[in-house]
Amino acid sequence: MSRVEVEQGYFGQFGGSFVSPELQEVLDRLAEQFERYKDDPDFKEEYLYYLREYVGRETPLTYARNLTEHLKGAKIYFKREDLNHTGAHKINNAIGQILLAKRMGAKRVIAETGAGQHGVATATACALFGMDCTIYMGAEDTKRQALNVFRMELLGAKVVPVSKGQGRLKDAVDEALADLVANYEDTFYLLGSAVGPHPYPSMVKHFQSIISEESKRQILEKEGRLPDAVIACVGGGSNAIGAFAHYLEDEEVRLIGVEPDQAATLTEGVPAVLHGFRSLVLLDERGNPRPTYSIAAGLDYPGIGPEHSHLKETGRAEYVTVTNEEVLEAFQLLAKTEGILPALESAHAIAHAIRLAPTLGRDRILLVNLSGRGDKDVEQVFQMLNEQGADA
Ligand SMILES: *Cc1c(COP(=O)(O)O)cnc(C)c1O
Repeated sequence: MSRVEVEQGYFGQFGGSFVSPELQEVLDRLAEQFERYKDDPDFKEEYLYYLREYVGRETPLTYARNLTEHLKGAKIYFKREDLNHTGAHKINNAIGQILLAKRMGAKRVIAETGAGQHGVATATACALFGMDCTIYMGAEDTKRQALNVFRMELLGAKVVPVSKGQGRLKDAVDEALADLVANYEDTFYLLGSAVGPHPYPSMVKHFQSIISEESKRQILEKEGRLPDAVIACVGGGSNAIGAFAHYLEDEEVRLIGVEPDQAATLTEGVPAVLHGFRSLVLLDERGNPRPTYSIAAGLDYPGIGPEHSHLKETGRAEYVTVTNEEVLEAFQLLAKTEGILPALESAHAIAHAIRLAPTLGRDRILLVNLSGRGDKDVEQVFQMLNEQGADA
């Protein structure tokens, strides 16, 4: 990415910041502080210290020998973000942003959460750094995800149910932004994906790029060359942009993002401003955000990080969809062949790899980002498979 794009917060026609003047002032200060610290050697050293000593990085790049032999095609490697402390890639970003919050003198951290995964990562980072933590969560979501609410409370966070609007993720974001505007002097808003107004998409990318920084070094050590494709699931787009970042300039490496077919923002979206930034958005005939659905709660979002919209428009990355059936099959096949239970989100990326690998020669390499572990999804998979059994 060029310097100009970073400064203006634009990725081609996408990105930017469309917010109230009050919020813009707060975001300008955040952008300035992020620019100041992101390449600061002390800051970087502290970030890498916590990733190593607390999160458990670097994560392995595992050759999936059994799955590869089963599919009889391209070699499949998994970048194991599931092995991070708290079980997914979200903690990379939470640690990075909380260190910035500390440098900016914040005493209080707030965040939005949908299914609760980002809320748990934020509450974890706040416990570690002794920060006061408030998580906004749609009232509907607090009911559906009662155990994650309890998890956040165990970690010392205050969870505020939001019943305004539809009581969903979007309403939780609005409440968090209102809190930020009212309390910006001591409060830091720790956003969970590569979405939102500038500087959030660039900041989240920066802290998630550790994924491809490591994977590139690892694949060169193991294979002596770059992969033919990098595959990642896409919700708001943070694990995917982190997995793509260090390959963006290697034109021979295909970058493939995988969406649920019922939340296919990149495949079916149109350019529009939603939640304070311009990106591809799923709209209905009247021009309102279209309701999305995914069996993976972390992918159930009608918007997408602006850089992905740009990568799609320029053709540098490809975006595909998979069905719930393919995801469930991928989940089970990975469990049986490799002894790994993937998050349902990650199983989207695996499902596409399962489709692609047999069409490629055995000398090809696919690098799949395994964004999280699936323990959280076991009960849901149990129910879905029982229903399938009952239907059959
Ligand atoms: C939250 C989550 C995602 C989706 O978010 P992105 O910002 O698109 O990465 C994917 N996988 C897991 C395991 C998650 O927890």
